[in-house]
Amino acid sequence: MYAKRRHIYVREIKGLFQKVRRSANWALMMGFFLLPWLNWGDRPAVWFDLPGREFHIFAATFYPQEFVLLSWLLIICAFGLFFITVFAGRVWCGYTCPQSVWTFLFIWLEHRIEGSRNQRIKLDNQPMNANKAWRKGAKHTAWLLIALATGVTFVGYFTPIRELVMELPTLEAHGWSYFWVGFFLVFTYLNAGWLREQVCIYMCPYARFQSVMFDRDTLIVSYDEARGEPRGRRKKSLSHTQAREAGLGDCIDCELCVQVCPTGIDIRDGLQYECITCAACIDACDSVMDKMGYPRGLIRYTTENALEGKKSHILRPRLIGYFVALMVMMATFAWAVNDRTPMSFDAERERTQLYQMTRDGQISNVYSLTVRNLDSQDHTYDISAAGLPNLQLDNTSLRVPAGESRIQVITVLADPASLSEPSHAITFTLQAQQDEQIRQTREARFLSDIRR
Ligand code: SF4
Ligand code: SF4
Repeated sequence: MYAKRRHIYVREIKGLFQKVRRSANWALMMGFFLLPWLNWGDRPAVWFDLPGREFHIFAATFYPQEFVLLSWLLIICAFGLFFITVFAGRVWCGYTCPQSVWTFLFIWLEHRIEGSRNQRIKLDNQPMNANKAWRKGAKHTAWLLIALATGVTFVGYFTPIRELVMELPTLEAHGWSYFWVGFFLVFTYLNAGWLREQVCIYMCPYARFQSVMFDRDTLIVSYDEARGEPRGRRKKSLSHTQAREAGLGDCIDCELCVQVCPTGIDIRDGLQYECITCAACIDACDSVMDKMGYPRGLIRYTTENALEGKKSHILRPRLIGYFVALMVMMATFAWAVNDRTPMSFDAERERTQLYQMTRDGQISNVYSLTVRNLDSQDHTYDISAAGLPNLQLDNTSLRVPAGESRIQVITVLADPASLSEPSHAITFTLQAQQDEQIRQTREARFLSDIRR
């Protein structure tokens, strides 16, 4: 059910792919930590205000009524992931997944504090002493500080972070803020510090189903067995040609590719679901090939077809299908966001009374209009009704502050001479005075007892 864990001492490696990965990791992390500190006007630029039921993302403000947009966004993200997985396997995992990004940061700190892979192994095998105690203490303190910053930043997306960092130490913050900061502190510390590759191997559902999205033309990190085998150690002075003549493949069996792997696998055993496509083994092996004077690429990004000497089709129907679907969904989403009317309203008949006859012989119906201003500025709306000749309203305008809602009770009067049935469809229209684009209509029924 669950194999006993073998501690992995990841060796640090430099190279092209690690440069790309580290740049992506730092950029993502900086984005995560800095975004809640940005302001847009007098509010945070990105603020998911749950008590206020408002979700601010720069200039746009979304409300729970617009959650269908969020569903669309999640579907787009899922299709984006399918597309990138069909194209390049688990690059999401290796380069951008928060679990990997934080784990790499924790490993980076571990390396700075406890030293290289060999020094860490040596340190762990030592009995406790002053050197070990301070290094372990410093490492866990650094991890906990990063985890704390992560927790505070995460909660900072839901509570203005400037107030949060002032209120947390003085115990003035909301109880839930303490709970979630504590939760993410523990969660980050355990996941990135202790569990690491166990999350990718045993807990992540994506790792389990991503293999069904692979095909023979998907880019994977792979060891070129035909070129590398038979592997074997050799003197550095042995040239490529001499090694071939001695019946050796290009793999010198140095195991550097295994030592740099954050999930502890040996890529020479073939494609494995534990591989997060971080390409550390490519950089490691390329550095070995350079030292030996052998061509690079014994481990490389390639496809199953290419490895077997067959033609690879990067542009294939499945990939194009995902791409087209993704583009259509993104365009539709952009159009829906751009075209959304920042106002919503409902018109409901008062249920207690069907209709009334006024003293001057008019028929009246009473409606309740619930109007929500979804814009970032206050609006005054003109209210009108149509559907019957000469409808009169006792109130024709309503002011609603930005982001708030108002309920307006409206009495509509109709001339009995214009009524031919007990029920007529009428239409309410709300038009913002300040912006002619903000306009919505709702249908309602006008009731009487007239039947002709
Ligand atoms: S790093 Fe390259 S040469 Fe060294 S064991 Fe791995 S595949 Fe072989
Ligand atoms: S096998 Fe290579 S690409 Fe896969 S996780 Fe290990 S180091 Fe990264």
